[in-house]
Amino acid sequence: MAGRGCVDIETFRRQAHEMVDWMAEYLASVERYPVRAQVVPGEIAARLPASPPDSPEPMERIFADFQADILPGVTHWQHPSFFAYFPANASPPSVLAEMLTATLGVNCMLWQTSPAGTELETRMMDWLRQMIGLPEGFHGVIQDTASGASLCALLTARERATGWRANADGLGALGGDGTRLAAYVSEEAHSSIEKDAMIAGYGQDGLRKIPAGDDFAMRLDALEQAIADDLAAGITPACVVATLGSTGVGGIDPLAPIAELCRRYGIFLHVDAAWAGSALILPEHRDMIAGVEHADSFVFNPHKWLFTNFDCSAHFVRDPEALTRTLSVTPLYLQSRETGKVIDYRDWGVPLGRRFRALKLWFVIRSYGVENLKSMIANHIAWTAELSEQIAAAPDFEVMAPPVLGLVNFRHHPAGMDDEAALDALNQRLLERLNDSGRLYLTQNRVKGRYAIRFSIGQTSATLEHIQRAWGVIREEADGLER
Ligand code: PLP
Repeated sequence: MAGRGCVDIETFRRQAHEMVDWMAEYLASVERYPVRAQVVPGEIAARLPASPPDSPEPMERIFADFQADILPGVTHWQHPSFFAYFPANASPPSVLAEMLTATLGVNCMLWQTSPAGTELETRMMDWLRQMIGLPEGFHGVIQDTASGASLCALLTARERATGWRANADGLGALGGDGTRLAAYVSEEAHSSIEKDAMIAGYGQDGLRKIPAGDDFAMRLDALEQAIADDLAAGITPACVVATLGSTGVGGIDPLAPIAELCRRYGIFLHVDAAWAGSALILPEHRDMIAGVEHADSFVFNPHKWLFTNFDCSAHFVRDPEALTRTLSVTPLYLQSRETGKVIDYRDWGVPLGRRFRALKLWFVIRSYGVENLKSMIANHIAWTAELSEQIAAAPDFEVMAPPVLGLVNFRHHPAGMDDEAALDALNQRLLERLNDSGRLYLTQNRVKGRYAIRFSIGQTSATLEHIQRAWGVIREEADGLER
C-alpha cells in the first residue's frame, strides 16, 4: 500500500485497462447520448455528497458513480451532431497523448524541468507554422487559450507603447503624460479581447470597437479615423487586434491594409485566428493571411479545429524578446544552470506552471499526417457550403450571412411572416426545441440585429450524413412549431 497514494500498481493497471475499454466504447457509441446535457441546474450537485469521504472508496464504486451521476450532466462535445459554438474536436491520438501526459505529470515551466517538453514544443510550433503558411521569423509557444495568448499580446503592446514603463512604474504613474493607451478591434471580435483589454489596463474605455462593414470585416476607414482621433486627443494607439474568422459569422478583417496602417503608425498588430487558423493548412484559404509577415503576434487554436483536445492554443510572435521582457520575473528558485541559454517557456505566458501539451500535437500530426488533416478540414468546409445551399433553397428558411469555412448562420422564415420580433421569437423557440431534443446542438447569434441560428461544422467524427440528418431534424421541428 505504501508509496503510490494507497493504490498499488497492479490495481492501477487493471483499472486503466477497464477505463480504456470504456473510453473506446464511449467514442464508438457517443451518438446514443443526447448532445446537450438534459439536466436542470443543481441536478448534478444534488447527487454529490456534501463532504469528502474520510476513508478510501473502491475505484469500482467511483467509476460506477461517474457513469450514473456525472455522465448525465455532460454535454457531449465529441458527438458528431455537436454543431454549437465552435468545435473543440479531440481525436484518439490526442487522447492517447493526454494519458501519457497525465502519467508523466511533468511541469514544463523551465527547460530543465522537462527538456523534452520544451524542445518538442519548439519543434511542434515550427511544424504548425509551416503547416499554416506563416513565414519564417515567427516563434511559437503553446498557451492555454486564445484569450491567454491575446492577453500576452495586449500586454506586450502596452509595454512597447510605454517604453517598457507600465510594468515597472504601474499604469497609474503613467496617466496624464500622453501615455493613455488605446487598442482597436472590430465590433465583431470575440469578447476575450475586451476582457484582455480590461486586465491589461487599457480599460473598456480604451478599447475602440471599430464598426464592421456589410461583409462583417473591420472597416479600414473607421479604424484609421479612430487612430487619428486618439492621436489628436493625446492618446497613444498601442495595439490593433485583427480577427480572422469572427465568432458570430466568421468575418475576416482585411489584414494586409491593417498591417500597413499599423506600420505607418508604429502600432503593435495581433491577429486572432482562434478558429479559422486551422483552415490555413489548406493553401486555398491563405488569402486571409496576406500581410501577416508584418504582424507582431498571431494566435490560433488547434484545440478548436485541429483534432487536438482542449487545451492547446498556438501563439506565434515575431519578437520573443519583447514578450519575455514583458512577462519575465526571475527569482532565485526559478533560475537554473541553463537560464539565458535555453528557452524557459514560463517567460512566454502568464501562468508559471505549464502542462506538456506539445505531446498531443506530436501524436496528432504524425498519426494523421498533414494530408489527412487537410482533407478532414476540407470536408467540413465543403459540407458547410452544401448545407448553406440547401438552406438557401428551402422556401421557409434563409441564410443570414454567407457561409465562412465551417460556419453558417440561418433562420426559419415562414412565408408571409415579416414581423422581425415575431421571427426572433420563433427562431428562439425553434433553437430551444432542437437543443431540448438531444438530437443536435446549435447556438444562437444576432446578425445585423436579427436572431439567427449558428451551425458550426468541425467535429472529428461528423460525416455528411450527420449534417444532412441535422438539417432534416431542423425542418421537421420547424414544421411542428406553432406560429
Ligand atoms: N477568439 C475567437 C475568434 C473565438 O471564436 C474564441 C472562442 O470561440 C476565442 C477567441 C476564445 O478562445 P479561447 O477559449 O481559446 O480563449
